[in-house]
Amino acid sequence: MAGNWKMYKTVPETVAFFEKFNPLVAGAKHCEIAICPTFVNLSAAVEATAGTNVGIGAQNLYWANEGAFTGEISGEMLKSVGCQWVLVGHSERRQYFGETNETVLKRVLAALDADLRPIICIGERLEEREGGWTEAVLLEQFKHGIGGLSVDQFAQIAIAYEPVWAIGTGKTATPAMAADAHRIIREQVRLHFGLEASQSTRILYGGSVKPDNIKILIAQPEVDGVLVGGASLDAVSFASIVNF
Ligand code: PEP
Repeated sequence: MAGNWKMYKTVPETVAFFEKFNPLVAGAKHCEIAICPTFVNLSAAVEATAGTNVGIGAQNLYWANEGAFTGEISGEMLKSVGCQWVLVGHSERRQYFGETNETVLKRVLAALDADLRPIICIGERLEEREGGWTEAVLLEQFKHGIGGLSVDQFAQIAIAYEPVWAIGTGKTATPAMAADAHRIIREQVRLHFGLEASQSTRILYGGSVKPDNIKILIAQPEVDGVLVGGASLDAVSFASIVNF
């Protein structure tokens, strides 16, 4: 159960969130919990979750270890502040910051080199769904962004299926739509990495997940977890998703 805080919350707001959130999810044994705050909040978040069952992730990383790349942050730097996870290829990165399947793969490899666990986001835009291109888009994103990993590398990642038209819009994919997309992705996992990998990998659904729709989404056997944006900003709301 992962939360993406996007560009929200200051350090004091981050600390206040975890004071409330940690005890609410302390008994959650059925899942791993990860929250991805902004870069400047990572240290405070790691400190505020020390000794708890909540892991911290970043929202992006650059693929070089260090160098003259003003404004960028490496996997090694994220690891050194205590991150365990990192989102890669979020649709907002693809849409506003020129992320491509090729740069997704570079970032994933850099994350793995730094011993971080990438959550790789893929999903179709509205016009692609309406044009009947959902499967083709997912196959393309999978092939170029994920397909180049080794079986061992693949075992370290999680995939988030996030239909772009459902992110931050209040529109959720129907459970059947989510399950269909997850089946397409899982079949790609089987073809590229084998049956065992396809059964053990975790595919998360993301797109306007809220406390009132978590139950029906997670009831789909294909949906292994969720990546939550807006509803992860409130401690009670995200805790009720985690503890559904
Ligand atoms: C996200 O940012 O990955 C996301 C799914 O956002 P929201 O839950 O707000 O749609």
